[in-house]
Amino acid sequence: MQKLIDGVHKFRDEEFGRYKSLFKRLSRQGQNPHTLFITCSDSRVLAELITQSQPGDLFVVKNIGNIVPPANVVGSTNSTAAAIEFAVQSVGVSDVVVCGHSQCGAMTALLENKPSPDSPHLNQWLEIAAPVRTLIENNYSHLKKDSQACITAAGEENVLFPVEKLPNVSGRPGKTWGRFPGAFSAGVFQNQPRGKLFPFNNPKKKTNSSGVGSTNFPRTLAGKKLKPPS
Ligand SMILES: [Zn+2]
Repeated sequence: MQKLIDGVHKFRDEEFGRYKSLFKRLSRQGQNPHTLFITCSDSRVLAELITQSQPGDLFVVKNIGNIVPPANVVGSTNSTAAAIEFAVQSVGVSDVVVCGHSQCGAMTALLENKPSPDSPHLNQWLEIAAPVRTLIENNYSHLKKDSQACITAAGEENVLFPVEKLPNVSGRPGKTWGRFPGAFSAGVFQNQPRGKLFPFNNPKKKTNSSGVGSTNFPRTLAGKKLKPPS
């Protein structure tokens, strides 16, 4: 805790001056971030750092495993959906980026599928991404003996899932992510060995008025090795 307190003082004394006019303008005009950035709570993934963004640029949601629940999941499990609605409808972001990362503990737990009786909330949360686990079991059986490759594949499929599949989940107008056609993009941050963010290009971005996602995203993080067998 002392480290945080020291950091707050250091920021105020040494850093704030550099951002003073920016914070003043943001305070005066209100925020106008261009992107909702959904990423993992993992302490190694700092949205502003890896995208070199400034205060006011990103509206950030961090949750366990950067999971984006379907719009029809309501209640305490869907604060992420609330953030999407608020960011898109009220704040007016034009982009929603779902950013996964390598070595994700949530993806590991998702694939292991050993829910702990001591973690009912975590179990419930991870089960939202159960379709990703099924997809890995069905389409990536060729990686079965390589657990790290499976986790990497799950990380990719998890960020592509909302982009490709969720707009079709509900089918009820006004109750699906299809209200936000073309807003979703996805990427995976690989902290080791390259510190690189791998983006997935959305071929339907801004062009698909139905909001239905594409299934043609290239799986690029680990190249051909992760490609599901055709
Ligand atoms: Zn993670």
